[in-house]
Amino acid sequence: MGSECIECTISKIKMNLNKFKQAGRSVIFAICLSVSAQISIGQEIDILLKNGHVIDAKNKISAKMDVAVSNGKIMKVAANIPVAGAKKVVDVSGMYVSPGLIDIHTHVFTGPNPGFGHGSSSVKADDFTFRAGITTVVDAGTSGYKTFPVFKEQIIDRSRTRVLAYLNAFAPGMVGTAAEQEDMQALEIEKADATIKKYADHIVGVKIGHYSGKDWKPFDAAASLAHANNRPLFVECHITEFSLEDQLNHMKAGDILTHSYENVSERMPIVDDNGIVRPFVLDARKKGILFDVGHGGVGFWFNQAVPSVKQGLSPDTFGTDMHHNSVNSGMKDMLNLMSKYLNMGMQAEDIIQRASWGSASAIKRADLGNLSEGAVADIAVINVLEGKFGFLDAGGFKLEGDKKFQAEMTIRAGRIVWDLNGISGVPWSKDLK
Ligand SMILES: [Zn+2]
Repeated sequence: MGSECIECTISKIKMNLNKFKQAGRSVIFAICLSVSAQISIGQEIDILLKNGHVIDAKNKISAKMDVAVSNGKIMKVAANIPVAGAKKVVDVSGMYVSPGLIDIHTHVFTGPNPGFGHGSSSVKADDFTFRAGITTVVDAGTSGYKTFPVFKEQIIDRSRTRVLAYLNAFAPGMVGTAAEQEDMQALEIEKADATIKKYADHIVGVKIGHYSGKDWKPFDAAASLAHANNRPLFVECHITEFSLEDQLNHMKAGDILTHSYENVSERMPIVDDNGIVRPFVLDARKKGILFDVGHGGVGFWFNQAVPSVKQGLSPDTFGTDMHHNSVNSGMKDMLNLMSKYLNMGMQAEDIIQRASWGSASAIKRADLGNLSEGAVADIAVINVLEGKFGFLDAGGFKLEGDKKFQAEMTIRAGRIVWDLNGISGVPWSKDLK
């Protein structure tokens, strides 16, 4: 933080002092005096979240604690951090304080030719992320190596949300055909490999996508490309002639199957006609293959999800498959999707862990999804509402529930980017000028 920011901070404090004098708020007045003292010796907490239930699976924390943020980073997580020295104190009693959520299946690149192909249904990340507690998204192969530089320049570098990507093995990315990977020529593995290495901070995996061929070569080439770069293969093959069992057999531990609870594609559903999770699916889980929800418009059905949870196949991650259609239909947002699982019997803490540290682990980004000291201050403050709610699946079937997650506040790199009820604000009064 440069001197400009400190001057700016001091002038804000002076303004606040005036307001508090007028309002006669002596307690907060004392806090602000302490802030001035702290700034003078170079220590400052920008935001102090008090009394929340901190969930930080990486650091094995699930307890009532405070979180101090300074200069965009996590400064400290501990019980009873003194408010003296904090520029902003926010009481988050009764709420969960989680690392910012990570949505590992989104579509946020409109493509080099907007309106053409699958990229035409992409959304702008910032419009849908913070309001759902999300601070990082992974674009699922909307771009291939030919289009990734445009994606980086147009979207990744200009979004406040952290945007990562699985590179589509198909060179142009998603172009809206059912045969993206049919042509081995269009894979150009060496060029894709060079792109992954060049953009190693942004490309976290390789996607094999919509596919109508019968040849395993493209699938296996994409898998080899991912594994050679120590990254997962992200499998979104629901339009395919491959059986689900064969797909899982061609995947390795750490690879990710999405649209796991789908019921309408050519691909076999994971639950059989008697409501039993197919044994080879459970074997794949034991082998270490990860199951992402990938809700989207058609990828989530209660007749798959409910028996799966009961039989021990809860999702590893809550990828939304966020795009124009899904945000306006049954999916809505990541917290709504997570709420479905809350009402299916999963524990809130377990769900939040999978949506943060679990997601970071799936994409092998141990720097994300945690609240370690010095980590980037990406934080979601989440409420669990109680009441009467309804949740839709892709078939239009409804599950009634009595609990729902809600993002109360989202912090991205130390900055409050969402505050639903103004809990970080100074109370307005007619006496304030
Ligand atoms: Zn998708």
